[in-house]
Formats: sequence, structure tokens, C-alpha cells
Amino acid sequence: MTFAEAGLCESLSRNVTKSGYTKPTPVQKHGIPIISAGRDLMACAQTGSGKTAAFLLPILQQLMNDGAAASKFSELQEPEAIIVAPTRELINQIYLEARKFAHGTCVRPVVVYGGTNTGYTIREVLKGCNVLCGTPGRLLDIIGRGKVGLSKVRYLVLDEADRMLDMGFEPDVRRLVGSPGMPPKEQRQTLMFSATYPEDIQRLAADFLKVDYLFLA
Ligand code: AMP
Repeated sequence: MTFAEAGLCESLSRNVTKSGYTKPTPVQKHGIPIISAGRDLMACAQTGSGKTAAFLLPILQQLMNDGAAASKFSELQEPEAIIVAPTRELINQIYLEARKFAHGTCVRPVVVYGGTNTGYTIREVLKGCNVLCGTPGRLLDIIGRGKVGLSKVRYLVLDEADRMLDMGFEPDVRRLVGSPGMPPKEQRQTLMFSATYPEDIQRLAADFLKVDYLFLA
């Protein structure tokens, strides 16, 4: 697969080119077709592999195909994609990449993480967003306050899953994925990325992904 074969619309293609991406990295080349086909995915990929674009591009494209980019977006828009990463640096990088790719479209990514003003965060979310990026604790916090509806979630991405477990976030991640209103795995597409694939990650994958998920290493 080349970027030209990835089925990206004009705005997304332009933003990919503007980012200086000419050739897909291996995780993009193999991951994008799987994600575009609607399959769940567990991918072993390191930081620096290009995994962020591998999951963002097909998700953004799908949201745009479904009209999020045009008429459907409103201030009441609830997230259709939730992206979870363990640290504020990492989730911020993902958010910035999402903003870069979504530039010139009406897809609105928002980022939430601890250590920032909760009121500001909630106001940003309440302005409407299709792609909500966050650290586990802050996501749980705003979901627990009833500030974000989950019924529209169709994509759930857990990035750096092994680091989330190393940092002790497994209970938070499990509570988040099991939050009232979160569509069950049969009704969402779940993507997990992890540098390593030990037993605890295999258990998370078995619990969160549909049984026929693909494994990409
Ligand atoms: P990631 O592994 O997603 O954190 O990406 C690592 C770095 O590689 C980031 O700075 C990306 O902007 C860059 N990158 C990702 N995909 C490509 C690509 N296909 N061509 C050039 N740079 C890329």
C-alpha cells in the first residue's frame, strides 16, 4: 500500500503530504488496510514506528466518509473516537498529529490530561468533538462527571498499552472501557498498540478486542 492507495480524501492526502510523509512506514503499510476494513487490531509497534498515523488516518477518513466533516458536526457532537495513552506528552503528540491531519476539515480533536484546569477541559469537550484524546485518569474523571456521552463511540484506541500497565493504569483502563454507556466490543472497533506482548497485554487484548482480531508484529 502507498499513501495514494490508502483511500484518503483530498484534504487528508494534502495534509499527509504537507507533513512530509511520502512513503508509509511498515506499521502504516500493513495497519491502514486492516483498520480501514473495520477489523480490530493488536499491533506490536514501538514509538517512532509511525503508529500514530497508522491509526489516525483510517479513523479520520472513516469519520469524514460518514459526514462528520460536513453537515453532521455540531456543538453537541459527542466523541466517535476515543484515544487513550499513558502520559500527557504522548497524548499531546497524538492530539497534535490528529489536528495536523484534520486541518481544513470539520473533524475536531480535543485533548484532556491531568494537571490542567478541569473547567477548561470540560468546556473544550462541551464545544463538541469527534476525536477525544486523553490519559486514562482524566478521561475517567470527565466521563464520571457525566460531561461526555459515549453512545457514539465507534473507535477505541489504546496506545502504548504495555506502558499503561507498567504505570499501574490497568484498573483505570478497565474502568474506562467498562464505563456505563461505552459501546461493547461488538459495536466498536478497538485498536491496541504495544511495544511488547506479555501475558497481561494478551489478556487485555482478549478482553477488549473482538475474537477475530488481527495481530500485527
Ligand atoms: P510515531 O511512531 O507515530 O510517534 O511517529 C514517529 C515520528 O515519525 C513522528 O515524528 C512522525 O511525524 C514521523 N512519521 C510517521 N510516519 C511517517 C512517514 N510515513 N514518513 C515520514 N515520517 C513519518
